[in-house]
Amino acid sequence: MIVLCCPVQGKLWPATAGSLAAHAPDALIIPVPAGEIWRPWTDYAARWGRDDDLVVIEQDVVIHAGVLPSFGECPEPWCLFPARHYAQGGGWMLDGIMCNRFRKEFMQAVPVEAVEAVYGSCIRCDGGKDPRCWAHIDGRTREAGEAAGFRIHVHWPSVGHRDDGRPGEPAPEGLA
Ligand SMILES: [Zn+2]
Ligand SMILES: [Zn+2]
Repeated sequence: MIVLCCPVQGKLWPATAGSLAAHAPDALIIPVPAGEIWRPWTDYAARWGRDDDLVVIEQDVVIHAGVLPSFGECPEPWCLFPARHYAQGGGWMLDGIMCNRFRKEFMQAVPVEAVEAVYGSCIRCDGGKDPRCWAHIDGRTREAGEAAGFRIHVHWPSVGHRDDGRPGEPAPEGLA
């Protein structure tokens, strides 16, 4: 299982860095220049469907001790730990790349070309013209994965997000 984090240079949240050091010491941390909006996906795509399952942890996600073991044990092809987005009202983020584990068979069934072919609408890349733009990797992986018949499998307890969201919340009523 490859664990990958591609923070924008200078934007790796201290709590994220601490949680990676504690719970994913072998994670590959590849900082990307701020202007290079295509870089995170380029780094994911270079490892997509090759030799191993891929875990992606975004620059502001705070993992806990159960995340990698749980990803390792779960037989589902496409998994996520959710977090609350406190900067946007505290609602649960139940999809998106954030903290995902893609099994090799998922990535082989949903190849890089299929993800990049999903239509995007975006102000960062002139209306979605950059198929690798980080702003719509979430939507592209979700649409391409669902089009191939997959549904994301949600794990609990939650991970944290930025400074406000502490990891470890159990599934709320109705979301388990
Ligand atoms: Zn799972
Ligand atoms: Zn874009």
